[in-house]
Amino acid sequence: MVRRGDNTAMISRILDGAAVAKTLRAEAAEGAARLASRGVVPGLTVVLVGDDPASAVYVRNKETAAREAGFAGRTLRFPASLPEADLLATIDGLNRDDAVDGILVQLPLPKHIATARVLEAVDPSKDADGFHPENAGRLLQGKPAPVPCTPAGILELLKRESVPLKGARAVVVGRSDIVGKPMAVLLLRNDATVTIAHSKTRDLAGLCREADLLVAAIGRPGFVTGDFVKEGAVVVDVGMNRVTSRADLERFFPGDAKRAAAFEKNGSTLVGDCDPATAFPRASRYTPVPGGVGPLTIAHLLLNTLRLCEERRG
Ligand code: NDP
Repeated sequence: MVRRGDNTAMISRILDGAAVAKTLRAEAAEGAARLASRGVVPGLTVVLVGDDPASAVYVRNKETAAREAGFAGRTLRFPASLPEADLLATIDGLNRDDAVDGILVQLPLPKHIATARVLEAVDPSKDADGFHPENAGRLLQGKPAPVPCTPAGILELLKRESVPLKGARAVVVGRSDIVGKPMAVLLLRNDATVTIAHSKTRDLAGLCREADLLVAAIGRPGFVTGDFVKEGAVVVDVGMNRVTSRADLERFFPGDAKRAAAFEKNGSTLVGDCDPATAFPRASRYTPVPGGVGPLTIAHLLLNTLRLCEERRG
């Protein structure tokens, strides 16, 4: 699909994550319907500890998406003061519950809880987020495993939009266990030549300019500017940063009346890790924010849960 760039006269090719996510969700619903005919309903349980507002929105969206696809979706909500031992006991109960196929512990957890201990407590065969070290290891070795939803969704998008990966020079900025590292492994498995960059990387802009495919998963609004992007590269912007200053609005979305109106209404707007005013115009194809990577994450969560259900009960 060719559209005019959000705020420039340049024509860019948008990688439509929202459209691909819709297809993936429909596939998950079809899978659930197949299982339902045999009396099996895929069950996804989300565990939410505390009252982080962003997490509350993500969790609600996950639960709704699960229900819409015909899954048994539910959220267990706990106060931020929940002792770690109680959370571990809850996970143990879910591990033993045959109706639960996928368990997702919403991050971040309150500071008094050791995230790694909690993620390791999830039964790897019910690990809907693919964060268990056993599944991370299986991914690294190319064995079947649930794959973290954001990078898995991005790979699906790139494949379905026929972005060439074989032999492509890919740079992934960010090395988190949730996005950067699994993204790099997936691209490697698909025959890209991959470099992982991070906050200690020297000449980051120069390195990024070598990339045919640039994935930004940093958590800094508009950090990747035009001078990071080779003309014609494919740019995947994973970032989701809410900015509240008018100066940011004008810097990132100059002349964008629609954004400005929404900003006036909400007092904020969402910006990725790429500067939409300078980075996207240089790209041959890119994922917009919002509507690019975000919807794919939830869609892939459903597919992970469906596969776990099929493997355990199918
Ligand atoms: P983390 O904070 O865990 O990791 C950020 C990474 O970026 C780190 O590896 C860090 O390097 C690197 N980094 C930070 N500053 C710089 C810098 N100045 N130069 C180069 N590298 C830098 O974030 P996540 O991976 O969890 O998330 C990344 C982004 O993706 C966030 O904006 C988040 O909101 C978004 N996100 C979006 C999702 C979606 O569904 N769309 C899902 C998950 C995340 P170092 O390791 O050296 O500190």
